[in-house]
Amino acid sequence: MIREFTYEALPMRVAFGAGAVRRISEEAERLGIERALVLATPGQTALAGTARDLLGERAVGIFDRARMHVPVETVAAAEAMAAGLDADGCVAIGGGSTIGLGKALALRLGLPVLAVPTTYAGSEMTPIWGLTENARKQTGRNPAVLPKSVIYDPELTLALPAGMSATSGLNAIAHAVEALYAPDTSPVISAMAERGVRELAGSLPAITGDPADIDARSAALQGTWLCGACLGATTMGLHHKLCHVLGGKLDLPHAQTHAVVLPHVAAFNLDAAPDARSALQRALDTADPAEGLAELATRLGAPRGLAELGVSEADLPAVIEEVLASPYTNPRPVTREALERLMHAALHGGPTT
Ligand code: NAD
Repeated sequence: MIREFTYEALPMRVAFGAGAVRRISEEAERLGIERALVLATPGQTALAGTARDLLGERAVGIFDRARMHVPVETVAAAEAMAAGLDADGCVAIGGGSTIGLGKALALRLGLPVLAVPTTYAGSEMTPIWGLTENARKQTGRNPAVLPKSVIYDPELTLALPAGMSATSGLNAIAHAVEALYAPDTSPVISAMAERGVRELAGSLPAITGDPADIDARSAALQGTWLCGACLGATTMGLHHKLCHVLGGKLDLPHAQTHAVVLPHVAAFNLDAAPDARSALQRALDTADPAEGLAELATRLGAPRGLAELGVSEADLPAVIEEVLASPYTNPRPVTREALERLMHAALHGGPTT
């Protein structure tokens, strides 16, 4: 049966290739950026310096204090620096935290963002922003925060450690899994999601085996692009809701949380989403995609239980309450009993049910 759908393409310019970061000045020029503020985390200051050198006179400074979940204090400090330097755009080089800071500056100052991702989180492909104030993370969608241009350079991901590559890649796969059964999915998104999962599932084991495998890094980054675009174009379900609540309430690491939860939510939802199941059967080359995702996580050495991330039994009731309290779209209705069962399996890394 062909369902009704609406599809709106997001304006995206992508420059892809090993060494593509050397085109950064050209890309900034295309966007009319003459005074770029380069954004990075403290761990990627050297990379930010490389970006500044490549930008030459087009760079006016580096703000290297980006932090996970975009605290408002960090945004205020970056905003003051951008204003002080009269910046007319920003170059966000790093993972989802750095790109999230760029989006906050786009939201507040209207600065165009040139994103240079170095993880597989996929934020560069979405109009979704997040800001954290008083331990509460607020998120929203606004086309103004979508980066104007994205440079994907697999060479920049060579330094991403095997463990982080595994969990970050599973984070990207989660976007595609939920896009496949999203109420606003469409043939374009389904095709991108299936291909994205195939690229990542095929390349991540090679990357954890040899993080310097540039072909596998290229395939993973192409998968990231596709999965990120799926996240940007559709409404996410139980998996993203659960990870958002877990991350916010218990201050858990983002990618690792996604890696643990994904096989459990897939097992719960795919019975009610036959088209998504078929697409994932093809992408993962398995009859049981939820089991395939669990096996992939194990093979990659990713954490399998929330307990490994420091979660205890006593933490679960508040998480379950918060998930049940807010309505969100999901292919299968989420009852308290089902959620409790799912959370207990995820806590101890038990079999998906
Ligand atoms: P991150 O950006 O916090 O990076 C994790 C750590 O890895 C940092 O210390 C960083 O410096 C380091 N790192 C990044 N790339 C590296 C590389 N190539 N080599 C060595 N070290 C590297 O983690 P993340 O998982 O990319 O992003 C998580 C954040 O992004 C969360 O806050 C999440 O909510 C957000 N996010 C937002 C969206 C969206 O659409 N808005 C999508 C996905 C994730």
